[in-house]
Amino acid sequence: MKPAPFKYIVARTIEQALALKAEYGDEGRFLAGGQSLVPTLNFRLTQAAVLIDINPLTQCAGMQNSQPGTVRIGALTRYGQLERNSETARDLPLIGEALPHIAHPQIRNRGTIGGNLAHADPASEMPAIVLALAGRLRAQSQSGERWIPAAEFFGGALSTALASDEMLMEVELPVAGPRSGSCFMEVSRRRGDFALIGVACTMQFDANGLCSQARIGLCNAGDRPILAEDAGNSLLGRNIGTAQIDEAAALVQQAIDPGGSIHASKEFQRHLAGVLTRRALTVANERSPREH
Ligand SMILES: Cc1cc2nc3c(=O)[nH]c(=O)nc-3n(C[C@H](O)[C@H](O)[C@H](O)COP(=O)(O)OP(=O)(O)OC[C@H]3O[C@@H](n4cnc5c(N)ncnc54)[C@H](O)[C@@H]3O)c2cc1C
Repeated sequence: MKPAPFKYIVARTIEQALALKAEYGDEGRFLAGGQSLVPTLNFRLTQAAVLIDINPLTQCAGMQNSQPGTVRIGALTRYGQLERNSETARDLPLIGEALPHIAHPQIRNRGTIGGNLAHADPASEMPAIVLALAGRLRAQSQSGERWIPAAEFFGGALSTALASDEMLMEVELPVAGPRSGSCFMEVSRRRGDFALIGVACTMQFDANGLCSQARIGLCNAGDRPILAEDAGNSLLGRNIGTAQIDEAAALVQQAIDPGGSIHASKEFQRHLAGVLTRRALTVANERSPREH
């Protein structure tokens, strides 16, 4: 398939990119890595009058510790850059663990975190991770900027809170703290395929070894990335062992509504979500150093 005709404009500055988006609105699409946009254009699932190429905006790429305890990742940061940066594994181990599961090296060398989050595929790993980390995202337009909590950013499938004149600029995430552990796991039919189900979890413990925070994000478990809040909350204030983990896994199974496909029925996806949640929470628990 070939895409419908479109106009192609290269934005050399952020101001120019925002001005073009203000002018064309929903008819104009930012072109970042092109790894989701171009296939959907080719299949004519998306039509755009104008592609606004933002690749020259290199100032929007990279990681920085803007303030203690947080990392900001620029929207144009490529997965491959994150993979090769040793700070990813140190500060954002959940992302470090998930990256090899995302597509293939060629796609990770082009695909950007901003393009992935703006595309908002419910089967995608990164939206579930940003939810599990309680991140926030900065959107900018000609009239100003705003921060959007991850829990409010993702709408239904392929839909976000970004307005038609806004560009996603960066995502801010908390650095993994002491007495915390995380784990990402997924099952896919072949390496690089989208997950049948993926689970991203983070746990934090207090000085007495009790769970003070637990968040569980899931991909391909509904029409958007899912945060299983009841499951996470069920762990709070408790010593974590098999019984608590089993309870949380059962709550995850209740919280999700997977779509099912020719590759996996709804029931199988729900089963997988339970198994993966149990395994991922067990590993995150073991990874959390504790002083008693
Ligand atoms: C074979 C294959 C396998 C894949 N497997 C996986 C997988 O396993 N897991 C997974 O998560 N993904 C997978 N993907 C998809 C891919 O990883 C990402 O979704 C993709 O890289 C998105 O980033 P991009 O920079 O390429 O965005 P683009 O394709 O350039 O853009 C995607 C959308 O976001 C918009 N956009 C881009 N940047 C911005 C911005 N800064 N602000 C606002 N809007 C913006 C675009 O206009 C477009 O609508 C796969 C892709 C392919 C081709």
